[in-house]
Amino acid sequence: MVEGPNDIYICSNCTELCQNIFRQEKRKVSGSRPMFGQIPSPRQLKEFMDQYVIGQDRAKRSLSVAVHNHYKRLTHADTTTTGDDIEIDKSNVLFIGPTGSGKTLLAKTLARCLNVPFAIGDATTLTEAGYVGEDVENLLLKLLQNADFDLEAAQRGIIYIDEIDKIGKTNMNVSITRDVSGEGVQQALLKMLEGTVANVPPQGGRKHPEQQYIQLDTTHILFICGGTFVGLEDIIGKRLGKRMIGFHTEAEGEIAAERKKGELLKKVTPDDLIEYGMIPEFIGRLPVVASLEPLTEEAMIQILTAPKNALIKQYQKLFSIEGCELEFTEDALKLIAQRALKRDTGARALRSVMEEVMGDLMYQLPDVQERGKYIISEEVVNGEVGLFDRKPIPIKESA
Ligand code: ADP
Repeated sequence: MVEGPNDIYICSNCTELCQNIFRQEKRKVSGSRPMFGQIPSPRQLKEFMDQYVIGQDRAKRSLSVAVHNHYKRLTHADTTTTGDDIEIDKSNVLFIGPTGSGKTLLAKTLARCLNVPFAIGDATTLTEAGYVGEDVENLLLKLLQNADFDLEAAQRGIIYIDEIDKIGKTNMNVSITRDVSGEGVQQALLKMLEGTVANVPPQGGRKHPEQQYIQLDTTHILFICGGTFVGLEDIIGKRLGKRMIGFHTEAEGEIAAERKKGELLKKVTPDDLIEYGMIPEFIGRLPVVASLEPLTEEAMIQILTAPKNALIKQYQKLFSIEGCELEFTEDALKLIAQRALKRDTGARALRSVMEEVMGDLMYQLPDVQERGKYIISEEVVNGEVGLFDRKPIPIKESA
């Protein structure tokens, strides 16, 4: 207790509360993150995403429309006085697609485009309240932290929940104990997805029972869930009565199977997801389902070269800092893409393959005497020729 004049006391909790109020008020005056004056149209959103994410056109389209409507609903709710009680539903999004195909990247890019706070969570770490693991409220805490505890901003943020397929209920569970990480988590997420005032523990977890909860309204938070849903294509295939048979060679079969998988995933219905183990109420709260396609070799090459911070551009930058130039031949890029594809981790493999190719070169680069343009060819990628064994092409001095 802090004593003031005339027998007035204030306790530490209240001082802290006052501090918080001051901070929030101050932020309001100085202006929190600016509310977007004009919501970008779906086309603008897609064009922005095109700068960073290669391919996945269908997913981008559904996402842009969903997001546009979501934020329209948000601003509409703030401003209307028209009196009609038509409420636009929240359009949370579910991404289905192989690992490394850009699900997280899409969500992240979107948040950047809209300039709203963004948080990524992992469904596998979540458990029902009261069990070892994280509570679903921790996702909200992350968002709040990323918004610098600006409550207003956090309440119109975006949360991406990865590995959502891992919380499907398991019928094969032989254990008779409760399923606290599967169906239980889906139940816990329901309210949050739909919109509720959640009590967020400011320091996370249940370790500080005395802490004051922050009340966060999730009505305007956009939730994007993503998962690989391995085996979902079989469920869809079975429903459609199609089977994958009759390929001549193994390689041919593999490519065709991948393509077929993508085709099947496009036809996903809520029923398939329910059969997969998601509870109907949960799927009902994710009205927009977008499937991402497995990346092709051409897409991989594009990912290497085209996006604003593409890997190749990064290495070129590193070379230019040393006064050199770097170029890749088309064959070299093809080879790198093929190698990455073999690893089955989507575009994520590109990084490690590039690291293998470039690691040693980056080690040698600072000691290289001759400045000039170096060209990475197929042989260099294969390790048959050292990049610095050959003389570089002299760089023409620009006038
Ligand atoms: P996931 O689908 O498993 O969430 P991510 O979005 O995390 O995959 O992708 C991993 C990395 O791969 C990203 O950081 C990005 O660099 C790259 N990547 C994946 N897909 C694409 C894509 N379509 N366009 C550009 N880069 C991509």
